[in-house]
Amino acid sequence: MTRARISALAAAVLVLACGRDKPADGGGPGPASTDPTALCVDDGPALAPALPTVAPTCSLGPGVLAHDASRPLGFGFPGGGDELPAGVAYLTFDDGPSDWTGEILDTLAAKGVHATFFVNARNMKGPQGLDATYTDAAGQTSVYRDLLKREVDEGHVIGNHTVDHKDLAALSDDAAADQLDLNEQLVNQALIKTGATPRPLTLVRPPFGSPWHHHAPLPADPAAAADTAGRLVANRGLDVMWTIDSSDSAEWATGESYTRAGGGVTVDASVSYADKVARIQSTVLGDPSIAARAGAIILVHDTHNATRDALPALIDGLRAAGYSFGTIEELARQRWGRPSLTLTPGPGLFDACVAQAQWGCDGATGADPAHSVCGRLWRAYASAGGADKLGAPLGAPATDATTGVTSQPFEHGVLELHPERVAPCTETMTAAP
Ligand SMILES: [Zn+2]
Repeated sequence: MTRARISALAAAVLVLACGRDKPADGGGPGPASTDPTALCVDDGPALAPALPTVAPTCSLGPGVLAHDASRPLGFGFPGGGDELPAGVAYLTFDDGPSDWTGEILDTLAAKGVHATFFVNARNMKGPQGLDATYTDAAGQTSVYRDLLKREVDEGHVIGNHTVDHKDLAALSDDAAADQLDLNEQLVNQALIKTGATPRPLTLVRPPFGSPWHHHAPLPADPAAAADTAGRLVANRGLDVMWTIDSSDSAEWATGESYTRAGGGVTVDASVSYADKVARIQSTVLGDPSIAARAGAIILVHDTHNATRDALPALIDGLRAAGYSFGTIEELARQRWGRPSLTLTPGPGLFDACVAQAQWGCDGATGADPAHSVCGRLWRAYASAGGADKLGAPLGAPATDATTGVTSQPFEHGVLELHPERVAPCTETMTAAP
């Protein structure tokens, strides 16, 4: 792209990153300016606390940015003080998808409930991860990645729970970053294979809630490790803790497994299956915050068949206690008036400090690399309306050596990434030439 071309583009900028987002999952404010001559200015509602503009710094190495303490960190941290909307329950399912996720989705659909799923691309699914197969409720062989498509197609929200479910605070900086970034890449590759739209995973639940809840033995300098893990998470999305632990992951009861074939877990013979199902329900419904109708982020796991069987009565009980249900994305929009995507610096794959070649793209599906949508351009492409609005890619992204601006042409427009601008005005689009 020539410099003259860039100047021409800069004169007719369509706001993309500013107030552009339509709610992907219901609720929240609608889009703002689509004036093709508007400058990229922030026209979103005021934030409380105010959202600072933060320029990325690379001083801590690839993928690790300094966290600005005034940026929203997330929800439900230990110690309370996080006032959630009264009478709203946020069901958050961790560690899936698993053999039981399909039936859990059936229940959620039958009950008219939307939830948030924090996904592991591998973990219990083994090295094949989301491409591995399982036996579904009908006895048919199915592929885990199709459950991801169901989750997004049916209005649920998916978030990042790392690839292998390791305690981030016990890992090196690079290993912890890889756990988050590789998970996002594998989840998006799986979504593309199913025909679903790829998306940044801007909600993060670190395994075990670490570093706020510790699990594995920490390194010699645990404070530094916890700080690093906290920053890693905070710079990839909103950190989602919980206010009620259903206790479903406390042990595997007799008859429980993460797979329909059974086995693979160490069972606590002192806990019967029926007792565990009842305990999950009573732990949640008996929590003092429920009687007070306080907002609740509820931790459950779609890897437990006992959770599957506890779910219908759990939802009914919460409804009887006066609760409605929401997703964590809706919570972010309710609290800050904008999507989580614009509240965080963005996941590591889209980090301006990470080389474009390492951002990953949908090339793994066998698509022509010259006509793929990669890395941070995914975010811009999806946010702008994707194929419906922009059409197919007409060529590969190109970066101007002088300005650093990366652009990619599409059927109906040109997307540009401007590293010299402060987020959220780094992404712009012009109409097709
Ligand atoms: Zn987990």
